[in-house]
Amino acid sequence: MDLLDRLVDKGLRGARPTREEALAVLATSDDELLDVVAAAGRVRRHWFGRRVKLNYLVNLKSGRCPEDCFYCSQRLGSKAEVLKYTWLRPEEAAEAASAGVAGGAKRVCLVASGRGPTDRDVDRVSRTIEAVRDKHPEVEVCACLGLLSDGQAARLREAGADAYNHNLNTSEATYGDICTTHGYEDRVATVREARSAGLSACSGLIAGMGESDGDLVDVVFALRDLDPDSVPVNFLMPFDGTPLEGTWELTPARALRILAMVRFVCPDVEVRLAGGRETHLRSLQPLALHVANSIFLGDYLTSEGQAGQEDLAMIADAGFEVEGAETDTLPDHRDGLVTVRRRGVGTDLPPNA
Ligand code: SF4
Repeated sequence: MDLLDRLVDKGLRGARPTREEALAVLATSDDELLDVVAAAGRVRRHWFGRRVKLNYLVNLKSGRCPEDCFYCSQRLGSKAEVLKYTWLRPEEAAEAASAGVAGGAKRVCLVASGRGPTDRDVDRVSRTIEAVRDKHPEVEVCACLGLLSDGQAARLREAGADAYNHNLNTSEATYGDICTTHGYEDRVATVREARSAGLSACSGLIAGMGESDGDLVDVVFALRDLDPDSVPVNFLMPFDGTPLEGTWELTPARALRILAMVRFVCPDVEVRLAGGRETHLRSLQPLALHVANSIFLGDYLTSEGQAGQEDLAMIADAGFEVEGAETDTLPDHRDGLVTVRRRGVGTDLPPNA
């Protein structure tokens, strides 16, 4: 059995490939690229059909972070030109979320810059979650607020959050090369904390930061061990004014191989095409839909709620369909709390059932 047949066989069973197999995917040639995508596509269709889940980011607080993540335009002392503002009011955030929901987003991700929330911030975000929920009871709400302290995940869950995002970003061995103000273990602890509070864990990576193939495989295997429900795959946007300025290492073909490797290692998990997709995949973006089953809607949404028309057209042109609110994203054996909560809308089921 050759490599791709073995990977498809394992992917259809949800089994873990070996490290060597994952490395071999990254080492495939351009001649093999379409075969790699087709193989990953078989695994994707087995677990997720031709559905594409849309997610929409709402930036609750932007800039002025005291941390020094090298890839981030909001880091301490960043000279990158980014919007800087402090917390959106709950009604403003709910209004912003409406634009994404109008475009077909099934999940709203509430993001705030910073090392992690204070207890007061958690109160504020809890009110925001309630405001989003009031307007859009069917939508999944994910919070992304940085490192969590004791009890904060449970409070977010009680407020009605379905999920918590905190990315590992890179391998343990290279973490010190992309951040000095917190460590890899801090990130792992927050993902665990979120899961143990009953939140659906979302945790992924950033590719293209100078890491080796071995580092990429390490972080994806570490993610598999943490067992998140969703894995966002970001491709580095090397902002001017950050330490990674000028780091352009990815090609569209490389980005596809990375996505395929993630799909083979995490076959039955929501693999999300995240930051940098337009810049790095360019004209190969539609091929990525054969591997990933979820994307962030592009920043093309207007205040009138006109959808990211280019994204929606790309999905339709490639023969995929937007996943509706009534459909469960995850396969039955992974179906967890998000579905339970969603099915509880309008019933007596408590939000943290
Ligand atoms: S903690 Fe978050 S916002 Fe702050 S520098 Fe790191 S990635 Fe950027």
